[in-house]
Amino acid sequence: MPHYDYTCEKCKKDFVVEMKISELDKRKVECPGCKSEKVTRNVTNTSFSSESINRYVWDK
Ligand SMILES: [Zn+2]
Repeated sequence: MPHYDYTCEKCKKDFVVEMKISELDKRKVECPGCKSEKVTRNVTNTSFSSESINRYVWDK
């Protein structure tokens, strides 16, 4: 299952959430520290930004 990196805007805590692609838009993500829902997903496009052979395959 893919992992998504989030940063809480309130307490600046970084955390990782594991979920399916299909859950991504539906699921409410809250900070495990302060329970704030003001979290930002950190999009790391390393898998797509290069011609690397280590392309990430999404589990759809
Ligand atoms: Zn927080």
